[in-house]
Amino acid sequence: MDLTGLLAIVIGIAVIGLLLIVGLVGTAIGRRRTPRGGTDVVAPPAPAGTAEGAVAAPEAPAAPAAPQLDRPEGTASRLVRLRQRLAGSQSGLGRGLLALLSRDRLDEDTWEDIEDTLLTADLGVAPTQQLVERLRTRLRIEGNEAGDPRTVLREELVALVDPTMDRRLQISGADGKPGVVLVVGVNGAGKTTTVGKISRILVAQEKSVVLGAADTFRAAAVDQLATWGERVGVPVIRGAENGDPASVAFEAAKAAVDGGYDVVLVDTAGRLQNKAGLMDELGKVKRVIEKQAPVTEVLLVLDATTGQNGMIQARVFSEVVDVTGIVLTKLDGSAKGGIVVAVQRELGVPVKLVGLGEGPDDLAPFEPEAFVDALLG
Ligand code: GDP
Repeated sequence: MDLTGLLAIVIGIAVIGLLLIVGLVGTAIGRRRTPRGGTDVVAPPAPAGTAEGAVAAPEAPAAPAAPQLDRPEGTASRLVRLRQRLAGSQSGLGRGLLALLSRDRLDEDTWEDIEDTLLTADLGVAPTQQLVERLRTRLRIEGNEAGDPRTVLREELVALVDPTMDRRLQISGADGKPGVVLVVGVNGAGKTTTVGKISRILVAQEKSVVLGAADTFRAAAVDQLATWGERVGVPVIRGAENGDPASVAFEAAKAAVDGGYDVVLVDTAGRLQNKAGLMDELGKVKRVIEKQAPVTEVLLVLDATTGQNGMIQARVFSEVVDVTGIVLTKLDGSAKGGIVVAVQRELGVPVKLVGLGEGPDDLAPFEPEAFVDALLG
């Protein structure tokens, strides 16, 4: 082989080598670009931010992928389902009353039994006497003209529950401000759960919601509320453990005002330390919120199974804060639906919502006629 041939071979090898090197480097760069290309995709919108400390803006968790959000149940199917559950827990009372009223002779003993049945259902003394009086008049004096006992009982019970009260939740703020709902009640009544459930009702109605976890004395309550929020993509403002509840309430209201949200729901601490302490605490919470926006609704959460205790709590809270609506929880676990009437009488404000189970959508607007129908089975 002459020199020219040798040179051609060397140049050929060099060119092939160069091509190989270029190829390898190119592949390596290409590989490195792939993940960067991945981040170019717009990340899914941050779900429920959970702000820590006295911070204003909801903070998005560093989630690698957006959690699957729940789709809360709509009103129609919720009502059908929960009416059945209400009938299941309360119809014993209605059946008992109807059996007594359908006796051939309504003698004194029977009227006493009717009275006992109503008192056992926590209707309260005054409403019981009033109802018995009305029934006696209509069934005994009007006699057959009064109609059948079921119709008479239904009419009188509906009148007692009072269908004329305005039971709509006040969730609309004026002047572009959010609606502000303050939720109060003793620990264990179902406050935090109710705040979570209301947020789902509002989300189903396509309202934008912020939650304020102002029950700073119980870390579990704060975590519980954060979970409710995360499930439906609602930001939760929380503070340091044992921090000032009023500051969390303030930040929640501020986040709602600044972010142009429709509604802010504030969970509060339910310690019944003493009336003065409770008054100071809730008074301050309300005052600081109102530096941002007026409170449009104060909901008192009461456990329907607690009977007279519940009534005492209701009295204390209504003296401390201007309650505008009542939420009766755990009606599914109690045959004592009479408390609806008793508590409305005591406070002069309507029962607006009833809790009928531990499921996330087991909260329903209170409807007097449907309630009485559930009682009567
Ligand atoms: P809080 O201390 O007042 O905030 O009470 P929670 O919201 O933590 O509720 C206390 C317990 O009551 C929890 O186990 C809830 O699941 C339960 N609860 C709340 N509402 C209802 C209801 O309507 N029905 C039933 N069966 N349980 C409820």
